[in-house]
Amino acid sequence: MNDEDTHAAYEEHLAKQREKAERKARKEAERTGPIPIALPDLISISNLALALKVEKELFLEQLAELGFEGINLESIMAGDTAALVAQEYGYEPTVVSDTEDLKARPPPADPSVLPPRPPVVTIMGHVDHGKTTLLDYLRKASVALQEHGGITQHIGAFSVNLTDGKNITFLDTPGHAAFLTMRQRGANVTDIVVLVVAADDSVKPQTIEAIKHARAAKVPMVVAINKIDKEGARIDHCKADLATNGVEIEDYGGDVQVVCVSGKTGQGMDDLEENILALAEMLDMRAETDGPAEGWILESSLKPVGKAATILVKRGTLRPGDYIAAGTTWAKIRHLRNEAGDEIMEAPPGTPVEILGWRDLPSAGDEVIQAPDEGRAKTAVEYRAGLRDREKDAKAHEQIVEQRRLHQEKRALEDEDDSGNNGKSRREYGTWGTTEAAPTEGGAKTVNFVVKGDVHGSVEAVCTSILEIGSNEVQPRVLRSAAGHLIESDVEHAAASRSTLVNFNQPIMGHIKALAEANGVPILDHNVIYHLHDDVRNVLSSHLAPDVSIKVLGEAEVLQVFPINVKGRKFNNIAGCRIRNGTVAKTNRFRVVRDGQTMHDGELESLKHVKKDIMEAKKGSECGIGFEDYQEFEVGDVIQAYEEVRTKRSL
Ligand code: GDP
Repeated sequence: MNDEDTHAAYEEHLAKQREKAERKARKEAERTGPIPIALPDLISISNLALALKVEKELFLEQLAELGFEGINLESIMAGDTAALVAQEYGYEPTVVSDTEDLKARPPPADPSVLPPRPPVVTIMGHVDHGKTTLLDYLRKASVALQEHGGITQHIGAFSVNLTDGKNITFLDTPGHAAFLTMRQRGANVTDIVVLVVAADDSVKPQTIEAIKHARAAKVPMVVAINKIDKEGARIDHCKADLATNGVEIEDYGGDVQVVCVSGKTGQGMDDLEENILALAEMLDMRAETDGPAEGWILESSLKPVGKAATILVKRGTLRPGDYIAAGTTWAKIRHLRNEAGDEIMEAPPGTPVEILGWRDLPSAGDEVIQAPDEGRAKTAVEYRAGLRDREKDAKAHEQIVEQRRLHQEKRALEDEDDSGNNGKSRREYGTWGTTEAAPTEGGAKTVNFVVKGDVHGSVEAVCTSILEIGSNEVQPRVLRSAAGHLIESDVEHAAASRSTLVNFNQPIMGHIKALAEANGVPILDHNVIYHLHDDVRNVLSSHLAPDVSIKVLGEAEVLQVFPINVKGRKFNNIAGCRIRNGTVAKTNRFRVVRDGQTMHDGELESLKHVKKDIMEAKKGSECGIGFEDYQEFEVGDVIQAYEEVRTKRSL
């Protein structure tokens, strides 16, 4: 093929693809009616392709055909124009103006001229490897606590002051859970991950999970090999395991620093801090201390003093009296408090700070943006709530369409089965020992959960983790979730809705446990998200229909059929058989198979050898078989003795 031919063939291929996509879109639109879609004032071509669910390159070509010239995926289209395009694809667009929203400022042109800010560090690692111990050790050097007799408030993060006057901010929310929720919301709050590995236990599943998360988020790591004071410490073994799991540690020629520490004796802890700082210096984190502040919600909870949320400030400086919006709620900052509970007058970038004054509790991972005044904060929040409702409507619409499609597919399959002759019998006919799954019922079963946890952030992470599990047969549903202890009404609600209670990272009061037990409400109680995930998976798996397989135990071939007199003038047919395979026992279930079709299925009335009743007949022997409610044997039929084997399935 010469170049021209290749080109022509390629053109033809593209044209076919285009036609196919258009046909599909037209068909979809005909079948479902227009799908509502909300478009912003301005949208990039690549985002529009995503929104319309069209492959990007193909979308560019189709746009060219519609007369758009000289555009690429980064080109920006006005909302009204995008709406016209969306109509072509069978959507019903509305353009929503987002000038009402509050947006983060564009990134600084030259960050190197900005003031430095403290690095933000998350400690991750396997359970019991010493994360809490290391954090507690570091917390003792907390800026706030040094002046404060060591009483700490849990606000999800704290600042450590190092000898040379520099600060490091440590996140103190449940390790992986916090990291994951933040990341799922697109918030990369962490600059550095400290990966803790116990010297006597080496790399474990959650260590690998942490490595994966850090790598996916492109966050650099420092490894702390902990518990080196223990007798079973095997530092070299840990290093080799880390290298095997893709951590490029310095001993193996990589640039990930490894520090050996003991959270118990304090050995190596200064070294760890120095290493973190050295890495931070290399990363050279800087941020504006002026202009509208931005940040992330680390966690939120209802405290006796009111609705509280910890913010990690990213840019700008927060002060009492400022207005801020996060997600669909806003606050006029009443107080700023540090981890010792002291009121502070300002929170510059890199500082974790608890803020009181919220209308509603914000969610962990929400972006915080400062508003110039109360009106702007309120408008932004109202605008976002409206957008969320519209998205919900569109989702509901999509779900209805999807359900309708599944229903139609199921109907089509059933019709096919009905019209195919003996389709059903053919599938049921198992040969010697074959396994077949039980047919599934249409529509997924829903399994309910009620979730409580210590803080809003972990409740969110737990809900996310629960909702990840499921299949088209069984789906989890979180009926209610909130921060706080399990209380009577949670148990009552769970009992009424047949839910499983989930309790995360907090004690359960004795009378609540007793109440749950009395009501038959199961409680999954965990402080490690990874274990909880497994337990939830087990709960869901227990709702899966078992695999039912048919195990054929013996087969008898019908050699002749003869009537015998049972009572008065009543005659029953008996099949005179020879056992071809296995053993048939009178207590088995039996089916009569002719030409691959099951003619009858049931229990035996009689099993005889000559005239004697017998309990079983083995391969090679002859016997008479009779059913009470089936007489239509034919010579050549096969009578199978079988049992149903039910095997539990898991997700
Ligand atoms: P986490 O689950 O990762 O937060 O682990 P913890 O900090 O709760 O530690 C688990 C256990 O290991 C606790 O009993 C700690 O006292 C113990 N531990 C932590 N660090 C060390 C250490 O350096 N040496 C020794 N011997 N024990 C430690």
